[in-house]
Amino acid sequence: MSFFNSLGRIGRNSNRQKNKSTSSTTSAIGNSSVSKPLFLCQPFVRTALLKGSFKTIVDPPKYVDVKEWLALNVFEFFNSLNQFYGVLQEFCSLQTCPTMSAGPGCDYTWPDANRRQIRLPAPHYIEYLLSWTNERLNDESIFPTKASQEFPGVFTNNVKAIYKQMFRVFAHIYHNHFDKILHLSLEAHWNSFFAHFISFGKAWNERHGKY
Ligand SMILES: [Zn+2]
Repeated sequence: MSFFNSLGRIGRNSNRQKNKSTSSTTSAIGNSSVSKPLFLCQPFVRTALLKGSFKTIVDPPKYVDVKEWLALNVFEFFNSLNQFYGVLQEFCSLQTCPTMSAGPGCDYTWPDANRRQIRLPAPHYIEYLLSWTNERLNDESIFPTKASQEFPGVFTNNVKAIYKQMFRVFAHIYHNHFDKILHLSLEAHWNSFFAHFISFGKAWNERHGKY
């Protein structure tokens, strides 16, 4: 599946290195010496609650304002991601995740007070990220909730920034905590949630990118 393969490419450069992660395994298909992340292995890569197209749930209803639809979905994605991370939080510590990584060689950075990009332990990064996103979602000047208010010109840029940060949490969990997802039997829910998230972003970009 392209969604998961694209996520797997984040750590492509590191494939040359010997993978020491316990969340990796050896591909049963093709070259047996090539290791791939657990989430890309069968049967997990195909485990989902829903099969087929997400078109009917990502397209805006006929009479709903497209920005209203975008705001609603971002809000829902954020709440669900927050809940998933809440379940996994005890496994994401300074010891297990000293950086906000999405596989070896891929560490996301966060801007400090002087706008310098710094590496943070993943739990700190995600705490900042969730707080930063929550502030924006509750900011009436960015996400207005009253019918009389227009969405600001910077609305879609804010949504893109939030969407990018949420993707990083998905990437971190896939690369570092997918074994715990399996242990909790959440893989079908998690994969479907991610597929919905990516489908929504792709559909928006293709159909409404001009907004
Ligand atoms: Zn972690």
